[in-house]
Amino acid sequence: MLVLPSLLDGWRRTPVAGIEQELDLARLSILIANLPLLYGVICVHIVVTAYSFSGVAPRALVYGLPLAFILFALVRAVHFMRLRRFIPVDGRVAHDMLRIVQFIAVGFGTLGTAWMVALYLYGDSALRSQLVFSVVITNMICSYILGQLPRVALTLAGISMPGFLLLLMLTGGPDAPVIAMNLGLVGLFLAYIVMVSARDFEKMVAAKLHAVELAEENRLLANTDSLTGLPNRREFFERLECAIREEGEQGALVMGVIDLDGFKPINDLYGHAIGDCVLRECAARLQIFASGGTTIARLGGDEFAIFTRGCFEESDILRLGEEVCAALRAPLRFADIHAGVSASIGFARYPQDAMDGHHLYERADYALYFGKQNHRGAAVLFSSEHESKMLLNARIEQALRKADFEQELTIRFQPLLHVATRRIVAFEALARWTSPDLGDVSPEDFIPVAESGELIHAITRAALRKALRAARNWPHDIKLSFNISIRDLVSQRALTQIMTLIEGSGFDPSRLDIEVTETALVADFERAAAAIAQLKRMGVNISLDDFGAGHSSLAYIHRLPLDMIKIDRSFVQEMHVNSIARDIVRSMIGLCANLNLDCVTEGVETQEQFDLLRGFGGTFVQGFLFCRPVPEDEVAGVIEQYRPGCAGQALSA
Ligand code: C2E
Ligand code: CA
Ligand code: CA
Repeated sequence: MLVLPSLLDGWRRTPVAGIEQELDLARLSILIANLPLLYGVICVHIVVTAYSFSGVAPRALVYGLPLAFILFALVRAVHFMRLRRFIPVDGRVAHDMLRIVQFIAVGFGTLGTAWMVALYLYGDSALRSQLVFSVVITNMICSYILGQLPRVALTLAGISMPGFLLLLMLTGGPDAPVIAMNLGLVGLFLAYIVMVSARDFEKMVAAKLHAVELAEENRLLANTDSLTGLPNRREFFERLECAIREEGEQGALVMGVIDLDGFKPINDLYGHAIGDCVLRECAARLQIFASGGTTIARLGGDEFAIFTRGCFEESDILRLGEEVCAALRAPLRFADIHAGVSASIGFARYPQDAMDGHHLYERADYALYFGKQNHRGAAVLFSSEHESKMLLNARIEQALRKADFEQELTIRFQPLLHVATRRIVAFEALARWTSPDLGDVSPEDFIPVAESGELIHAITRAALRKALRAARNWPHDIKLSFNISIRDLVSQRALTQIMTLIEGSGFDPSRLDIEVTETALVADFERAAAAIAQLKRMGVNISLDDFGAGHSSLAYIHRLPLDMIKIDRSFVQEMHVNSIARDIVRSMIGLCANLNLDCVTEGVETQEQFDLLRGFGGTFVQGFLFCRPVPEDEVAGVIEQYRPGCAGQALSA
């Protein structure tokens, strides 16, 4: 039993082989542990026997041969004691060693038996009986010690016992046959015990083997992504940390976070079964990049990761990234469904960018986030610019945590105008934050940081409270447009607080437009849709903001009770130089008209852009051409400016 821990170690080190090999390994372990004791017993038997026959048998039989046997036994015992430190883990080696042991057992047993038979012939009846009993008892002890090794135990017993019992029968006194038969029966019973114990041992080894196999299976399951068969997040980070340790201070590696663009719409549109097919296909395409030094894993959802060992130039890393993106961009076909995704990938390097897996991931993920904002569908390597942005974000987060939003947050209002009548139909509330530590911080900087945690809810509530308070004094035909974050939308608690706030303000909900970004919908469509339905029930209007900036899908528009779509300003701003942007804006305006939805074109900065939009039949516009976002106390002036027949009207005409 003592040897079992080392036995299991052997199993852990070797891949699970056949049961026979495992049995041989287990037997050898026991043998190595017990053989020194066995040789000790044999030596005692030899000394006692030789001593008993001294003066009766020739000196060669009493001194010479016993000495040789004892020497041999000692050498073998020492050999096995040393082997304890190097137990073989290969089943075939164990098998060969067992054969050698068996061979030696046969030789040693035969020689020993011959020696004892020779002594027997010199003894009187008392000495002979003593020898026979000694042989039987030694055999019993040996069989007990070698219980799990029936071959060796039975070989040893088979060589000595029958011969001696026969000798006893033939040459002993009148009681000898009965005694020999009794001893024979004891021998047979012993053989039976050895066989039973060997069988139990085999069963135990098989059970342990099964347990090891199960443990291995569980380990694999726990570390593998069941959908794609790729290593999962846990396994990826384990391998990454291990690779970093192995690389040491002199080594290098690069890790990338891969995110699919356009996967969510496929999932929402065609269902999860097709979504799963897409993920499996993407995993198979990524698998091509896996090799000895490169690991590919699925971290979860549509996020994959890669790391590759070695020191790479920036150009090599970006080329690898481009290859990964190109592989994922190739069209996908499942039955009669044609789908397409693209991928963005952010890279970070060890040791330049971070010293451990967690921080490496953080930086690669930031590069990915940055890439998604600026170069969607491409590879981005973490840079010092990103590092400073991350530091700034950390400072913003610190300042946000202790901010008093009632004091520090103000609201600017930017008008939305009707194209044909040039009247103001609404004002969009845009948050401004003046931090005592950081000064004025742009919403493009602080909103994403707040959205990465719970802080956004407090900002939304403070901004909404202020915006509603200001809008109470506006003419009743002017609405308030208010941006809410996906985090507000998917948190039932935050949503309830927002709805309570609207109800408590006394502001007519039908005069309130809630703007939800398209990317927000893509992130968690089901929950966002449920939240939108709740808002709609209380009479609020819903606008889809930044339309076209994310992974647009007409399915979203169809499936949501939208009132208005706001075309992202990036298209408008490219319209006069880029005919594709122009066509896109024209089609989007046409699409809204067909769907009976109001349409706002954002970011109109020039008369030329406005003229084009008017030509396309756009209904509403918003932009610096008409008015920049203004403080609450200037709203009345702006309204006045755009009253029919005023100068502002003339500007946009
Ligand atoms: P948005 O919702 O798309 O808001 C419009 C942004 O475009 C505003 O930037 C506005 O100043 C700017 N803009 C308007 N006309 C023009 C133009 O002609 N040219 C250019 N270049 N820009 C124009 P702002 O105020 O910096 O806000 C940036 C973003 O921050 C907003 O984009 C919105 O996503 C977010 N944000 C602002 N306030 C809030 C808020 O209270 N809550 C939430 N959740 N997000 C907010
Ligand atoms: Ca907006
Ligand atoms: Ca917008």
